[in-house]
Amino acid sequence: MPVEEAPGAITVQCPGCGQESLHTVLRGRQSRGGVTITLDATVQCTDCQHTHHVVVREAAPIDVAVVISRGQESRRTKTALPGDDDLETGEALIVDGMNCKVTGIESRDGRRVDAASVKDIQTLWTKEFEEMAVKVAINLRQKTITKIIAARAEEEFTVGQEYLFGRLRVTIHAIKTEERLLKRGTATAGEIVRVFASPTPLGERTHRPDKRQREAIRHAEERDTR
Ligand SMILES: [Zn+2]
Repeated sequence: MPVEEAPGAITVQCPGCGQESLHTVLRGRQSRGGVTITLDATVQCTDCQHTHHVVVREAAPIDVAVVISRGQESRRTKTALPGDDDLETGEALIVDGMNCKVTGIESRDGRRVDAASVKDIQTLWTKEFEEMAVKVAINLRQKTITKIIAARAEEEFTVGQEYLFGRLRVTIHAIKTEERLLKRGTATAGEIVRVFASPTPLGERTHRPDKRQREAIRHAEERDTR
């Protein structure tokens, strides 16, 4: 497998503070095999300074052609998107440092579609937007993906709030501002560094489990976060 330079920072679960947090990559190697990238690294949590070892696998990025419209002008470029991601019209992206909203998707078979897997996209049509791009790190079972929400600077984000990205429904569980990490409460888009979210569990429990079951669930959840 070809070895590549490891990224400088990644978002992973920290066994020290139990947070899904930004980590500095101290040393490590990244290798590419087929459509998968594997990062094997020693990382340090930027919140609690805990150092640990991680192996992260994710889909290799795919270069997608993008047309960016800005006012009357438009230009073509390319951007690398996660190979296993889905995109739909209305979603926000950052392309060449510009905040863009997807206005049209052309699939590889030449059709205009409302949504597609990244690997099936021929061209993305986008339009620059003026609002802020709020980054949402979503912790999936094996990896973390980042989605963007276009928001006005004063728009509020609250822990516990739900968002829908295509078919992916997520709930915010923490918000990192320049000052601190919020486990509850509200922050405005203008002060947010990153929002952390997890998929919302399908359906709520219909009855409250008894005390022993609750303890068992709590222990299992605690184990999972280690
Ligand atoms: Zn930590």
